[in-house]
Amino acid sequence: MLYQSTRNENTKINASLAIAQGLSKDGGLYVPEAFPVIKPYDLKNLISMPYQKRSAYTMGLFLNEFTAKELELYTNTAYNTKTYDCAGIAPLHMISENTYFLELWHGPTCAFKDMALQVMPHLLIQSLRKTNDGRNVCVLVATSGDTGKAALEGFCDIAGVNIIVFYPKNGVSEIQELQMTSQRGDNVCVKAVEGNFDDTQTGVKAIFSDNELALKLDKKGYFLSSANSINWGRLVPQIAYYISAYCDLLADGKIKQGEKINFCVPTGNFGNILAAYYAYKIGLPIGKLICASNRNDVLTQFINTGAYDKNRAFFTTISPSMDILVSSNLERLLFELSDKDGGIVSSYMSSLAGKGSYAVPKPILEQIQQIFASGYCSEEDTKKAIKKTWENHSYLIDTHTAVGYKAMCDYRANTGDESLAVVVSTASPYKFCESVLEALGQPSSRSGTGLMDELSELTNTPIPAPLTQLGSLPQRFSGSIKRNDMGRAVMKFLGG
Ligand SMILES: *Cc1c(COP(=O)(O)O)cnc(C)c1O
Repeated sequence: MLYQSTRNENTKINASLAIAQGLSKDGGLYVPEAFPVIKPYDLKNLISMPYQKRSAYTMGLFLNEFTAKELELYTNTAYNTKTYDCAGIAPLHMISENTYFLELWHGPTCAFKDMALQVMPHLLIQSLRKTNDGRNVCVLVATSGDTGKAALEGFCDIAGVNIIVFYPKNGVSEIQELQMTSQRGDNVCVKAVEGNFDDTQTGVKAIFSDNELALKLDKKGYFLSSANSINWGRLVPQIAYYISAYCDLLADGKIKQGEKINFCVPTGNFGNILAAYYAYKIGLPIGKLICASNRNDVLTQFINTGAYDKNRAFFTTISPSMDILVSSNLERLLFELSDKDGGIVSSYMSSLAGKGSYAVPKPILEQIQQIFASGYCSEEDTKKAIKKTWENHSYLIDTHTAVGYKAMCDYRANTGDESLAVVVSTASPYKFCESVLEALGQPSSRSGTGLMDELSELTNTPIPAPLTQLGSLPQRFSGSIKRNDMGRAVMKFLGG
């Protein structure tokens, strides 16, 4: 199977090269040239398999350059009871007959990014072997909090890889910052950047398009790669949990074969929900994909009107991993819906880069609305949703998941569509203790890990194991840099 660039459909390369490169040279993202198909019969076969096998099977549909044995090795290494605190890996939690949460945060960093980033390093290293690139790779990450830590854990002490993570100084939670600044490993570097996430992401993109820097790095035997969700190696492991959730519902007799269900996804960069769309494309019975946004509701507006406009105020919210004005992966959806015409996608993207906006024509908007619904959640409503699920269902959710839950409830109220719905739960509430405590009406005066103790005492729920150690780990990284100094930081890290 070949992959093509969203900005030039004639650029076609193998999966391994797409994963090794991350971003296409024309600025586009790599997408599969054709989509595989998963039949009811295949789904039935998956029911009896553990998560690791379901995941390897799903990835194999898209990565036929990799053997089943290779992929199973990766998924067994990524998802096991040493790395995950729950044997089911991605379990469903039911709060009512037709409402479920898909818990994707049982991995080493307690957010859903682990689902992809525990596997992706293996895909990347193997891709580099397959493409015979003798150079070392330096992975560059811009993070709004969760990606950074998950990438650091995934790549830590892997031979032939260095990783540098940039995060916005005032755009992540205290726990998230502690997780990153205490990262172990000899091949890692963490830098706080003055500004918000979009500044940080723009800075990383600028490094990628800096030819002079690339030459210097090449002389030192390095090249740059990305672990952001623009990399196909990040997206493909995410398709699996949608399929796995459906299999679990089938196995438990909660749905009939072929029955359509809805997924609601708390969305930032449009990676997670795009994986759901790909699951739908290959044949998973999905009715609606509900795209949930916080106060930065640029996607809600887009799905409602077809106009994408980033010229708007940026808000720092209590669901910081969704504080994004440019959702990079949307480009992949636009490519599919524009009949794979790279020229059309390029024109949207240059309009976005130039005047900060673009609009899609009505036929494309209609296609979008056929499968996507959207919802928006204010800060106040996010807190209310946390309180409500705790009081009514004794179930504790984090701020991002709360945005999803609220959007799903609104969708039901507005449409009357009461199909079984799965809200994708993207982080442990313990990563966002301060806001969760506030939502429960118990604002805390404690800080750092004291917040976790307080939440645990109040709700009588356990602190996830990877977070209990935070207080006793040494802080290895401190201070902050300016956006314009990010390139220099990369050179310095690599010894030049
Ligand atoms: C990254 C993240 C999101 C947003 O996911 P995208 O793939 O960027 O849309 C939502 N919630 C949490 C907790 C996250 O870490």
